[in-house]
Amino acid sequence: MTDTMTTTPATAESTTILDHWRAGAPWPGESTRTAPVYDPALGRIRRRVRMATAADVDAVVEDADRAARGWRERSVATRQSVMFRFRELLAARADDLAEILTSEHGKVLADARGEIARGMEVVEFACGIGHLTKGAYTENASTGVDVFTLRQPLGVVGIISPFNFPAMVPLWFFSLAIAAGNAVVLKPSEKDPTAANWMADLFREAGLPDGVLNVVHGDKEAVDALLRHDDVRALSFVGSTPVARYVYETATAHGKRVQAFGGAKNHMLVLPDADLDLVADAAVNAGFGSAGERCMAISVVLAVDAIADDLVARIASRMATVRTGDGRRGCDMGPLITAAHRDRVAGYIDSAREDGATVVVDGRDVVADGDANGFFLGPTLLDHLPVASRAYRDEIFGPILAVVRVAGYEEGVEIVNASPFGNGTAIFTNDGGAARRFQHEVTVGMIGVNVPIPVPVAYHSFGGWKASHFGDAKAYGTHGLDFFTAEKAVTSRWPDPSHRGLDLGFPQHT
Ligand code: NAD
Repeated sequence: MTDTMTTTPATAESTTILDHWRAGAPWPGESTRTAPVYDPALGRIRRRVRMATAADVDAVVEDADRAARGWRERSVATRQSVMFRFRELLAARADDLAEILTSEHGKVLADARGEIARGMEVVEFACGIGHLTKGAYTENASTGVDVFTLRQPLGVVGIISPFNFPAMVPLWFFSLAIAAGNAVVLKPSEKDPTAANWMADLFREAGLPDGVLNVVHGDKEAVDALLRHDDVRALSFVGSTPVARYVYETATAHGKRVQAFGGAKNHMLVLPDADLDLVADAAVNAGFGSAGERCMAISVVLAVDAIADDLVARIASRMATVRTGDGRRGCDMGPLITAAHRDRVAGYIDSAREDGATVVVDGRDVVADGDANGFFLGPTLLDHLPVASRAYRDEIFGPILAVVRVAGYEEGVEIVNASPFGNGTAIFTNDGGAARRFQHEVTVGMIGVNVPIPVPVAYHSFGGWKASHFGDAKAYGTHGLDFFTAEKAVTSRWPDPSHRGLDLGFPQHT
């Protein structure tokens, strides 16, 4: 697949413009507004992307609505076979997609392949849509009366995704939505939008009818149009907490079913009996993988005083071996998404120091293996960070790992539970009783026991608590299926002479 398949040429420079994807083909829409898409490791504009108007969104939703009416009538077997073909194509061309992810997000190639693999799990789960939508049947619930339930698609659903997982997050949502018989309008992040068109084109090749998966590029204007559109029945949003809250409140006020996943600040509690080498490895991997731009990244290590000095030394020595640079050069950690974001993240280092933290490793000193203009910041380690500090309270979303020292288990859990976020958390210990107590007591949606990034597998469901998740349904698994379908209960009786006669009372079972 080449760029020219999904783009129209721009003017003066050689930059291409990424179009929307409407009814199975690139579509420029009416807007003349575009936004730059950077290659973060080079610090250069890679291409531009169209910014949809509300009228563009209306046109795409109208097509999607028409496509949804046809797609819902296609047999389960047909929908499953499209999902199977999509899965096979995705597996065969994963390296092409990984290159796009690395070029626009900056994450290293190995991490990009991991992202695709975790998204593909949900495609595989969705291949079993026949089993998942079977419903239930009760024969003779009342004499001669049968009751059964069935699940049906909703129609057009909107998906609004963040920059940090340009492939995995859309895959988590559109796989089940499409397999269940809906049509999708995806509004990906404008910062790394190409993966969305690439996947839509792959679905076309897999045999998905035109209009079932559409991509509208843009910003708030496009999102607002989706939140308010009468024909959009449900919305899945993933992004920062303030926008998640806004999306949830606005779209529910417009009568939609909404699931909105927000930001995070994930803690890892380390008890003195833990294997400190395992902990140090886990802290570095989960703190700096994807340059800390993961909603399940560990950003705070809660270290019990007795082992804190030892643990900080082990983490710092491992950090010295992490190679920061261009993700195409075999480095461990890539750049941040934009220069502005890199500068914002770096700003927390001085503010943490002013608040009393020790800067053990300063990522601003990094010598990156990449272009001098790349948006690099090396791994940073803060120790003794006070919980009153902005660097503790804010979601930083970058390669800064902070150690907060605690007296023991109780203080650690208190800190975890006082956080407004509740996405993920982990405990590292060899004490099964302490781990069991932790999983019972923390007010967090996803918990790891000696596992730093506890993202559940596709047949469970993903989602946090508190300001990390608005709405009832989690992502994928049975929650995802319920979210993208509506249940009907049918009570049926076939003519039988014994049922003749009038009875105006409320139906009772006989
Ligand atoms: P973001 O909130 O800036 O953007 C997310 C989406 O919303 C994008 O498509 C963007 O175009 C759109 N958007 C941005 N501002 C908007 C506005 N004012 N009105 C309407 N739409 C708007 O998030 P991001 O920077 O792309 O992604 C990083 C954030 O996503 C982090 O906070 C991270 O924790 C969170 N995240 C959460 C999860 C989760 O499952 N909880 C998963 C991945 C990322």
